[in-house]
Amino acid sequence: MRTVLRQRLLLAARTDAHAVFNEEVWTTRCLHCRRVLQLRADGEPLGAATLEHVVPQSWFGMASAQALTARVGGDADDPRNLALACASCNHGKGRHHDANGPRDARAIEVVTALLDKRLQRWRDA
Ligand SMILES: [Zn+2]
Repeated sequence: MRTVLRQRLLLAARTDAHAVFNEEVWTTRCLHCRRVLQLRADGEPLGAATLEHVVPQSWFGMASAQALTARVGGDADDPRNLALACASCNHGKGRHHDANGPRDARAIEVVTALLDKRLQRWRDA
């Protein structure tokens, strides 16, 4: 796996109040379904952990998403916008509300709730 991706996975774990580091393994839960997810100390996923961009990367720069993107400093890779999600949840999200884009009120509602959840789990690394 690419180094930059491993670094972002680790950043998501370090800034996640639910993540525990024990015996060289990070353990936390999927932002969506709360399934247990694990990373090695170097950021390599053990099993189904994937990197979730809470506000979709494609929404940055779009006027209709500005209120959301501002909450993460306007940067898709800001750690506040990064979370661990299992592969099935992450890909399911891509097929559903992300695809509708930020002009869709329901999509905004879903992503806002997810970002609230991520920020409630925030801790300083
Ligand atoms: Zn999940």
